[in-house]
Amino acid sequence: MTRSQPLTEFELIGRYFTRPTQHTVLGIGDDAALLTVRPGFELVAATDMMVEGTHFFSDVDAEALGHKILAVNLSDLAAMGAKPRWAMLAMAIPQADAAWLEKFARGFFALAQRYDVDLIGGDTTGGPLNLCVQIMGEVEAGRALRRDGAKIGDEVWVSGQLGEAALAVAHIKGEWRLPDALAASCRHRLEWPQPRVALGRGLIGTAHSVIDISDGLLADLGHICERSGVGAIIDFDALPCIPELRSMKERDQVAQALLAGGDDYELCFTVPPGNEQRLTALSEQLDITMTRVGSIMPGNRVEVRGPAGRPLEWKEAGFEHFR
Ligand code: ADP
Ligand code: MG
Repeated sequence: MTRSQPLTEFELIGRYFTRPTQHTVLGIGDDAALLTVRPGFELVAATDMMVEGTHFFSDVDAEALGHKILAVNLSDLAAMGAKPRWAMLAMAIPQADAAWLEKFARGFFALAQRYDVDLIGGDTTGGPLNLCVQIMGEVEAGRALRRDGAKIGDEVWVSGQLGEAALAVAHIKGEWRLPDALAASCRHRLEWPQPRVALGRGLIGTAHSVIDISDGLLADLGHICERSGVGAIIDFDALPCIPELRSMKERDQVAQALLAGGDDYELCFTVPPGNEQRLTALSEQLDITMTRVGSIMPGNRVEVRGPAGRPLEWKEAGFEHFR
């Protein structure tokens, strides 16, 4: 795309961010948007920000960035069991670069379309690259999946596989050298997370508590424990991951990636015993693996056990060091 004059803010919004809406009373173009929540539903709202240097590398592809800023927000709604409906996008950008904006918008709207999300407003200013989405959705009144419902005796499950995004970060930072093909697949996991929206919906009525894994399993399961007033025990060998990661000889780094790596955007959830069939059916229906990784116990901390049920020796160091 060629242009002689820099875009004004309004041209930019009109050209890249204004699309027809599907279920919105009034979207982009006024001082605020107007929304109606359907009868019998509650409004669910979350926001997540991504800052260059902190959350992404400066060379990241704009289309991937457009995808990821919406994906991480959708992941929060997934963890509530909500159906996504609306998003707002506040962004600071260093310059109105048409090629960059076009790619960013492509990544953003491809995902928005997949989940039936209307972009209903936002804010655009100049400044160091900073992206913030507010996401809103609906959940059947009283049925949201929360962090505070875990019960002693619940099983702890996770979706998908853990640790690849953390591997990618370590590789990009030069802390860990991965073979090219593995580096590429891990980087894809880091940059194109798939929010588990359908899984969240499917867990309503089955899961006692749910959280999305954005800061690492230990930290995020720790939030469930704290909010629910319980402890948990994790079986390290049960943690789902790609075989390449499992077989690496740098044991501490493997543990770090699996337990404290972050950026996984899988769901961690607790269910009462006896739901195996329900979870298997859901797993097949959605084509997402689900793995039981531990149990909810009395107490207030998350313990990790290795082979033969022994507490892992490196655990304490791992905790402190990687926080
Ligand atoms: P105001 O000055 O009243 O805050 P703005 O001029 O900032 O409004 O924005 C004009 C319209 O464009 C508003 O509806 C706002 O929500 C929308 N908007 C601004 N930036 C974005 C963006 N990046 N994505 C989507 N909508 C945006
Ligand atoms: Mg404004």
